[in-house]
Amino acid sequence: DVRPVARALLSVSDKTGLVAFAQALAAHGVELVSTGGTRKALAEAGLKVLDVADLTGFPEMMDGRVKTLHPTVHGGILAIRDNAEHQASMKEHAIAPIDLVVVNLYPFEATVARGGDYDDCVENIDIGGPAMIRAAAKNHADVAVVVDPSDYQTVLDDLAAHGGTRFLTRRGLAQRAYARTATYDAAITTWFAKIAEEDAPQTRLFTGTLAEALRYGENPHQSAAFYAGGAARPGVATARQIQGKALSYNNLNDTDAAFEAVAEFDPARAAAVVIVKHANPCGVAEGATLEEAYRKALACDPTSAFGGIVAMNRTLDAAAARAMVDIFTEVIVAPDATEEAIAIVGAKKNLRLLVTGSLPDPRAGGLAVKSLAGGLLVQSRDNAVVDDMELKVVTRRAPTNTELADLAFAFRVAKHVKSNAIVYAKDLATVGIGAGQMSRVDSARIAARKAIDAAEAAGLAEPLTKGCVVASDAFFPFADGLVTAIEAGATAVIQPGGSIRDADVIAAADAAGIAMVFTGVRHFRH
Ligand code: 5GP
Repeated sequence: DVRPVARALLSVSDKTGLVAFAQALAAHGVELVSTGGTRKALAEAGLKVLDVADLTGFPEMMDGRVKTLHPTVHGGILAIRDNAEHQASMKEHAIAPIDLVVVNLYPFEATVARGGDYDDCVENIDIGGPAMIRAAAKNHADVAVVVDPSDYQTVLDDLAAHGGTRFLTRRGLAQRAYARTATYDAAITTWFAKIAEEDAPQTRLFTGTLAEALRYGENPHQSAAFYAGGAARPGVATARQIQGKALSYNNLNDTDAAFEAVAEFDPARAAAVVIVKHANPCGVAEGATLEEAYRKALACDPTSAFGGIVAMNRTLDAAAARAMVDIFTEVIVAPDATEEAIAIVGAKKNLRLLVTGSLPDPRAGGLAVKSLAGGLLVQSRDNAVVDDMELKVVTRRAPTNTELADLAFAFRVAKHVKSNAIVYAKDLATVGIGAGQMSRVDSARIAARKAIDAAEAAGLAEPLTKGCVVASDAFFPFADGLVTAIEAGATAVIQPGGSIRDADVIAAADAAGIAMVFTGVRHFRH
């Protein structure tokens, strides 16, 4: 199984050890054939070496893209030596056998690594080299292939000991050869993938991994899992659960809604609390302390707050914790919690307490994803913040400073209420929230009705909507929704504006002597 080496083809980009190897081959009487650069290096070392062009009768062309891609070369490599027909073809076409192929490839990986530009990288994709390597490796029954200078000695050892290459040597070299072309093509594929991603980062939507298999989904007959990762944003995905039962699908969804909403409130300005039920806020308030904010938020709709999620924008303290454990709550989420507060929550074994470390930036970018049958809908986050909007007074009366503060507060909340959203607010607390109705006037009515219910439950003489402000997440298409709000007691309105009936709506506001501002920005949330 020893094959003599009469002729070797050398074509290498990495010329490490080349001259010494070629000298040794020549000493064994091997005839050397080379491509341009390799031939030059060998000739300069005083070696006798044929040019591939002399074999093929074709010059290297197209900047070296076509050097060895020729039947004279590939026939010489691929011909089966003891096959009569192959031998006849060689004779007919004057093809001489090539017994040893020494090729290492254009430095594609190194070109990418040194930051070569697009054309540079493409030009460094070797074509003829891999073709010869794969041809020689395929014909390892007769031909030896070397793709790495570290294997030169192996071949020389065989020549010295056996006067040719042994089958096991050739087979081993063939395996290494295919490993090399595979790695090479993998590097090219990876490069393309990287470029494609740079071109269109949205082609990779999400890079997260399975965080938890959930017991079930929105309903017990649905299966569910929680995947976390992607853009790092303080929130449920990265929160630390200090205590309580495992979070369910609905808990995670609602906790996210609550925490994203409360992150709209700057903790440097005031303490803020959001109570969420079924992904909608049912009470939101700012206060001097978390306890005060919580009591104000709870007063908005204590019925709905039962079994809700409570989120806050500051470190949970003992006083707030004491107030919160008073009613049945599913989850408490805060940037942090004091030891004392943790101990107080600890009295309720099932109550889940999450700490996130910090608040997410409401102005941050990022993607929001929704599924639909057979696809995903993707949009950038709604990162518009009312403080950045240019408020335009459209009524005869301008809002007072107190009304303005409440208007901004109400619009901030409306952003996190499912459409159609109507939010009544007073003294930096919601006093009525209408969510998810198919008509805006219904949302306005429901919110007013809830305010009446809350007042009755608290034994108040009149609903807190008297003298409140109102926010609408999108324009009033008709005056009716606004009229309902005015009847409920609203004295000032904030809404995007932009309806073809804006004039009617403004006229209704002026007729009632209320103030109205347009934000120019809509906060649909479906
Ligand atoms: P040289 O430095 O000898 O001019 O070129 C050696 C390089 O050319 C080796 O890396 C070898 O893989 C590559 N090579 C040999 N034949 C061809 C060919 O026909 N096309 C291309 N693109 N590269 C080749």
